[in-house]
Amino acid sequence: MRQRLTVEAYTQGILSGDRIILSRAITLIESKLKNDKILAKSVLENILPNTGNSMRVGITGVPGVGKSTFIEALGKHITSLKKKVAVLTIDPSSKKTGGSILADKTRMEELSRDPLAFIRPSASGLSLGGVARSTRETMLLCEAAGYEVIIIETVGVGQSETLVKGMSDFFLLLMLAGAGDEIQGIKKGIMEMADAVAINKADGANKVLAEQAVTEYQNALHLFPKSDSDFITKVVTCSALEGTGIASLWELIMEYQQSTIQNGYFQENRQAQNLEWMHDYIRQTLEEQFYENTIIKKAIATSEKSVKEGNELPVTAAERLLDIFRKSLMK
Ligand code: GDP
Repeated sequence: MRQRLTVEAYTQGILSGDRIILSRAITLIESKLKNDKILAKSVLENILPNTGNSMRVGITGVPGVGKSTFIEALGKHITSLKKKVAVLTIDPSSKKTGGSILADKTRMEELSRDPLAFIRPSASGLSLGGVARSTRETMLLCEAAGYEVIIIETVGVGQSETLVKGMSDFFLLLMLAGAGDEIQGIKKGIMEMADAVAINKADGANKVLAEQAVTEYQNALHLFPKSDSDFITKVVTCSALEGTGIASLWELIMEYQQSTIQNGYFQENRQAQNLEWMHDYIRQTLEEQFYENTIIKKAIATSEKSVKEGNELPVTAAERLLDIFRKSLMK
């Protein structure tokens, strides 16, 4: 195993933008070892004053919509403006399958060679809550390392969009024309969360269909209540493959940033997200402590058996276990 660095070495390395040390600090954050966790916490505390200065952009869409092609195009556009961009992913598939939908190696090849870009797939083997925690902390490390734009990507298949929305300033939904909402698995709730909807693959014969889809989605969005940001959700077209519509989408994101900083929503949203982060952390830590408690570990099998066999109500068994847990804390 590689030797750990000192807190100071991690801190200095990150603040000076050293990518290798940044990567190693992220590995520390993802670690389940107690000593790594303690070290990671000290590093995070040290770099805290240098965080928060980025635009955090969440991007979602079903597999095949063109997320990685799009992020590569957007990322290249951002680095052409001499800004540093970090791409993080929240991949809900990595726990179940051991593999992942997003982490194949050929993704974003060109962007990964760009010295102004940093790409990090989500850790495998963590729960979705665990991935969310490590992504939030990774975001802070990247900000301290001088990344001005953080892109957080997720596959649009369930709870992970809500998590990404909860950690981004701007949330972009990528869609396709003519595929029908049901085929795309996009729920109304996800459209409602979006600050912009981009119809991708607006090229060749698909161009006309994409323009039609803009009107359809705009009409659908009119039915939703106005967002707290006062920003009217825009529907645009783009072709990640040909690179069209990418620069204007970036302009739109910048426009959003400016207008929400001006009306105070940007800060309000960050504050609300920080509170949510605190509560999430409490919930997760309590849960971990409960399930990792040695007395609970012994008692849980018996309770599970009696609930499974119908000899005990789930609530009764849960209350008994909670009682055992509380008593174990008082010892
Ligand atoms: P992801 O699964 O959402 O990350 O999608 P990918 O970026 O891997 O793209 C899926 C497929 O769609 C690939 O074959 C891409 O080349 C293609 N694709 C992505 N964007 C575009 C686009 O704007 N136009 C066209 N015609 N194809 C695209």
